[in-house]
Amino acid sequence: KKYKQGMEKTRHSFSGKLNDLIARYRKVDEEFFEELEELLIGADVGVNTVMDLVDELKMEVKRQNIKDTKEIKDVISEKLVEIYYGDDDEEVEKLNIQEDGLSVILVVGVNGAGKTTSIGKLAHQLKQEGKSVMLAAGDTFRAGAIEQLDAWGKRAGVDVIKQGEGSDPAAVIFDGIKAANSRNADVLICDTAGRLQNKVNLMNELAKVKRVIEREVPDAPHDVLLVLDATTGQNAMSQAKTFSDATDVSGIILTKLDGTAKGGIVLAIRNELQIPVKFAGLGEKIEDLQEFDAHAFVYGLFA
Ligand code: GDP
Repeated sequence: KKYKQGMEKTRHSFSGKLNDLIARYRKVDEEFFEELEELLIGADVGVNTVMDLVDELKMEVKRQNIKDTKEIKDVISEKLVEIYYGDDDEEVEKLNIQEDGLSVILVVGVNGAGKTTSIGKLAHQLKQEGKSVMLAAGDTFRAGAIEQLDAWGKRAGVDVIKQGEGSDPAAVIFDGIKAANSRNADVLICDTAGRLQNKVNLMNELAKVKRVIEREVPDAPHDVLLVLDATTGQNAMSQAKTFSDATDVSGIILTKLDGTAKGGIVLAIRNELQIPVKFAGLGEKIEDLQEFDAHAFVYGLFA
């Protein structure tokens, strides 16, 4: 239910416009598809993804001999789900949490995207599931980042391993791993710096942090989550490209979906970059994080 509320802006905008389009056209023809394309691009679905989608739709319309626009809604939702998953199984793509031993999650993304907030929410959610969680304050660069993560740790009721501002992030995360191991924690979530102004430094720093994690914990990091702000549209796409060039991003936390009518960015990221959206941020509170489910998302658009 929360999911539906959080997506209200996108849902109203998208389903409202689609219903309007269907009412105006009645007949499925080339002009209908052109307007549909515009609608989807306007919802940030991304031009390439829209082209793929509309091609698929046209074929399906032919195959099923659909003439009336009223019948096309179901086909659109089916195809949106298909385009999201591509050739992969249509399943919710969950976190890679280990049954035994420590799971390490590295969280990356530019400042302001909602990294700290998302880490707090994720810690809360995992703790609710009965896991023991710890945080490592690896953003030692941004003033206030450590205190902010500490505050989220308190809210979630989990310990935060930290050093002073300006300390070596890899050393902080090394400490975090030691502490998590000695306390038998299930999950360590590692914050990182997000200053994209100095891309080379940032990417070197991430690489170093990753090396430490790989050395200290077998098969870690188990997830590298990139935090993207849904309201930044195609900017989020280019950040996703930059970060996935630098590290193996295993999933996206797409924040502020509640603050945009352009939730279509979800489809573009998965379809064009093959990175699954694992979580959606739907508000500023600790419980406003949802495991991302493409079926629920797409069918929610038409609800
Ligand atoms: P960071 O710099 O990436 O660590 O970003 P923060 O976690 O400090 O978040 C930046 C701002 O975005 C804060 O005001 C958060 O409350 C807000 N924020 C984060 N996630 C969400 C979300 O899912 N929805 C909304 N509406 N706001 C969010």
